[in-house]
Amino acid sequence: MSLKDNLTLSILSKAEKEGYGILAQACYDAQSAIGLVRAAERAKSPAILQLFPISLEYGGLPYLRFCVELAHAASVPIAVHLDHATTAEALELAIGFAEKHGVKFDSIMVDASHADTEEENIAIAKPFIDRCKAQGISTEVELGRLEGGEAGVREITGEMLTDPSKAEVFMRETGADILAPCVGNRHGSYKNFGGPQWRFDLLETLGTQFKGRVPICAHGTDELPEEYWQRMIKLGVTKINVNSWCRDPYAAALSAGLASKPFPEAVEEATEVMASHCAKWFKIFGSEGKA
Ligand SMILES: [Zn+2]
Repeated sequence: MSLKDNLTLSILSKAEKEGYGILAQACYDAQSAIGLVRAAERAKSPAILQLFPISLEYGGLPYLRFCVELAHAASVPIAVHLDHATTAEALELAIGFAEKHGVKFDSIMVDASHADTEEENIAIAKPFIDRCKAQGISTEVELGRLEGGEAGVREITGEMLTDPSKAEVFMRETGADILAPCVGNRHGSYKNFGGPQWRFDLLETLGTQFKGRVPICAHGTDELPEEYWQRMIKLGVTKINVNSWCRDPYAAALSAGLASKPFPEAVEEATEVMASHCAKWFKIFGSEGKA
């Protein structure tokens, strides 16, 4: 199946041409997914609804079906992406849903960045990428290695920055579509590392190198200072993974609401908190009104 009409790639390609970023929001439950979609429709913004494998293990095929229907029924383009599929089990599960049941992510991150060498990374990722392609699913890969961990992403140590010359070979050999580079970005908190210190020179090199060919995805966006957003978008980043910025206020609202209000009321209010935080990112990333 061709990737010509792939939703994730078409959303990212338009964003690159027009110079804005796409909120790829991690959604851990149905309510937060609904909050994201509401916000995108109101802001007339494209978006990416992002799941971790842990949500697939939890809700299985019916949950993926729900997310895909929710996203694709929206009045704006919203792709569904599986982030950090690091194990063969997670990849088998996600690709199996497509192959056996026709329920498909628009894109999957085939993440073998834990491999000891790039050759090994390619060898692990390639067969899964080929199967995704056959289903019309685009793929994201990580070259280099991001340290840290988030809820749903395992803790990793031993940072490796992305080497631009190797990145070219890597994208060609894996056949993947989207590159998640390591430019000093890390998952989770930057607090114990003296704050974020991204290598924007390296990001610029990669952005120039892959312009118009390979969309670039920013991971590790917790705690970033304001000037980072415009800067990364200017250098060619289009897919911006966001996790705790929206999740934490949503979870706090849900927990406080459930302690004092009827269940449906607490859920409705928390969903709106999620939506209001997503709306903030559409503004910051410049995607408002772009759908
Ligand atoms: Zn990540």
